[in-house]
Amino acid sequence: MTTPPRYDCSKCPGYCCSYDRIPISDFDIARLAKHFDLPVAVARRRFTYPHVHDGVREQLLRHHRDDVYKSVCRFFDRKERRCTVYAARPNVCRRYPSGPRCGYYEFLTFEREQQGDEEFVPSA
Ligand code: SF4
Ligand code: SF4
Repeated sequence: MTTPPRYDCSKCPGYCCSYDRIPISDFDIARLAKHFDLPVAVARRRFTYPHVHDGVREQLLRHHRDDVYKSVCRFFDRKERRCTVYAARPNVCRRYPSGPRCGYYEFLTFEREQQGDEEFVPSA
């Protein structure tokens, strides 16, 4: 039996989508290309950029500026605070937070209780 999630992304401004380093695979790029009806090479260039981490080349999701966090994934709707490519989102996003608990959500909930403000967003 699967344990139900103990976090609610609809109450979170999308902290995990603000990670600087969100590496995605060729499969993910191909899925995004299909979603937008674009050639894979165009999707790769438009949505990702190359980076080297621990000597390994990877493709990271591009960001755009954000008022809540410094920047967020380019697919994140900054007004609605949600993913705009949910059905075509990369596997790394599907797997997160890989269990029933999200550490940031617990931090967020604790801080909101302390502040007595349900909208409070602590700097992470
Ligand atoms: S940080 Fe946690 S609660 Fe917030 S959007 Fe990501 S998974 Fe959901
Ligand atoms: S693709 Fe969607 S879920 Fe993944 S980081 Fe970007 S906005 Fe978040």
